[in-house]
Amino acid sequence: MGLKIYNTLKREKEDFIPQNPPYVGMYVCGPTVYGNSHLGHARSYTSFDVIYRYLKYCGYKVRYVQNITDVGHLVGDADEGEDKISRQAALEKQEPVEIAYKYELSYFEDMRKLNILPPDISCRATGHIIEIISHVQALIEKGYAYVTDKGNVYFEVKKFASYGKLSGRNLDDTKSGERIDIATDKKAPEDFALWKSADGGHLMKWPSPWGDGYPGWHIECSVMSRKYIGDTLDIHGGGMDNIFPHHECEIAQSEALTEKPFVRYFIHNNMLTVNGSKMGKSLGNFIVLKDLFKKMNPMVLRFYILQSHYRSVLDFSDESMTAAGVGFERLRNSIFALKDVKIAENDDLTAYPELDALKKEFLDAMNDDFNTPIAISVLYEILKHSNNELNKADRDTAKLEAVKRMIFTFTEDILGFNWNMADNTDSGEENNREDKLIEFLIEIRKQYRTEKNFAMSDKIRDTLKDIGITLKDAPQGTTYTIS
Ligand SMILES: [Zn+2]
Repeated sequence: MGLKIYNTLKREKEDFIPQNPPYVGMYVCGPTVYGNSHLGHARSYTSFDVIYRYLKYCGYKVRYVQNITDVGHLVGDADEGEDKISRQAALEKQEPVEIAYKYELSYFEDMRKLNILPPDISCRATGHIIEIISHVQALIEKGYAYVTDKGNVYFEVKKFASYGKLSGRNLDDTKSGERIDIATDKKAPEDFALWKSADGGHLMKWPSPWGDGYPGWHIECSVMSRKYIGDTLDIHGGGMDNIFPHHECEIAQSEALTEKPFVRYFIHNNMLTVNGSKMGKSLGNFIVLKDLFKKMNPMVLRFYILQSHYRSVLDFSDESMTAAGVGFERLRNSIFALKDVKIAENDDLTAYPELDALKKEFLDAMNDDFNTPIAISVLYEILKHSNNELNKADRDTAKLEAVKRMIFTFTEDILGFNWNMADNTDSGEENNREDKLIEFLIEIRKQYRTEKNFAMSDKIRDTLKDIGITLKDAPQGTTYTIS
């Protein structure tokens, strides 16, 4: 059985046939970098990480492109209102570019803890303003977009006949109050911004043929995916909340220009809820990954996420996390027991049809639209064989080795667990303790410096440096990095 993928465009599972095999171009909408990553990010990017890993396992040469939205994403996803990054910059009294970079680094740090592979290309909207302007210009020339006297450019939705083909919405649905703030210079409420004038005092702005301004949120994905993959993407991914308006607008912008299909397979992960409710800052149930990782090993979160299919709603609660922790422990212990297995000479690793059958079961599950919960259940079946063998006095080392190779390929290469990172189940607390210890030493060193005892203050700094902790003094205080 070959790989089948649920394609949101067709609303059914289809055989996966890339445009130019073995090459696969995959674009996933990345984060808007105005705050620390939360559970929703963990869910979405872990799901696409497994898809990326599995495609590579299947022998495809994948180019995985992910954008960083660092301008133009307005509060409420609308065409009017504050830019999320500018708003955060005002709150933190920093430049928007400082905010964007800070939270971009923070995002990649959290993703690394989840053992999510970085994309092959990570691209920023602000680095592609020239390409964005020329795409918008071409849409104006083709008659799909119009410039208003305020210096805004809008896509004229009624000119693009297949608008709505992804979300299933028609223009009447769109008109019936999706947007509360309708810009007064639009020809029709469903039209969306390609370029916004910076007249309202927007901090990040660039010169354009229509005056100083900045790109609308949707256009960056059409432009960057085309630049790095081409006119047609094999896979385009994102959260279900991206289907409308974001991906619908991307299709319109791209297909209006190229007159080719924008995407072959649209993949969308379902939402994450907390105790049955939507997660939101205003609802008081917002879970930031940095806080969560102080309490639990990120590998357990990864396990928890993959225990549910990416198209199901995933509900997060203390009870379900505890249950996931127990399941993860079982898996970890069985796998750790295999670490020291040594193969004997003349061992034949291919003589186990029962293991071949389980391998097929695992791969069938992955081929069935990346069904990780079923795949994980097969892991336990595989490990029963090694656990049985390990309990015997006379162990079959060839069978143990066969299990070991299979299980490490499945769990590490495909499902993306890193068993070294999982070694310490409470590494979150450990890190916390280490942080506190370093902060304590910084405090003591400060005291020595006040007393002008530089011999001791330097000794603390040098000793920490020797063990890979570098202190950096600045007027605001001392910070540190761990290498
Ligand atoms: Zn996007």
